[in-house]
Amino acid sequence: MAQPRVVTIHYTLTNDQGEQLDSSRVEGREPLSYLEGAHNIISGLESALAEKATGDQLTVSIEPAEAYGEKNDELIQPVPRSAFEGVDVIEPGMQFQAQTPGGPQIVRVVEVTEETVTIDANHPLAGEKLHFDVEVISVREPSEEEVEHGHVH
Ligand code: ZN
Repeated sequence: MAQPRVVTIHYTLTNDQGEQLDSSRVEGREPLSYLEGAHNIISGLESALAEKATGDQLTVSIEPAEAYGEKNDELIQPVPRSAFEGVDVIEPGMQFQAQTPGGPQIVRVVEVTEETVTIDANHPLAGEKLHFDVEVISVREPSEEEVEHGHVH
């Protein structure tokens, strides 16, 4: 296996409709650094950048399977309204942190009735084809500690 690198990029992310979802190229934002092979970024973007060097620019489109996965209907579920005791107003679009066997997870409210609240635990970008416009700012070797921790310091 190739030696993992620390890659720093500027990126702009748009969805299939051409709407900008995220960008590191705005005031107050730093370029993004990730450690290869440590699942710091989505797999499709990491493979597109695997052979790239400082100064390279590219645009890449990534299918859901290589991004945040397909939408899973089983993750959309009604729960009793009583599960939200202490919350006065519950509206579609609100987000809550839920405790799940897999650890804390963000869920979004999609529908509210008198009896139930339907929540969606899919990643907000699940099912979306993503388009990245990327520039490689720098590439360097990771420190031993970074490799051990699985992230960039
Ligand atoms: Zn660390």
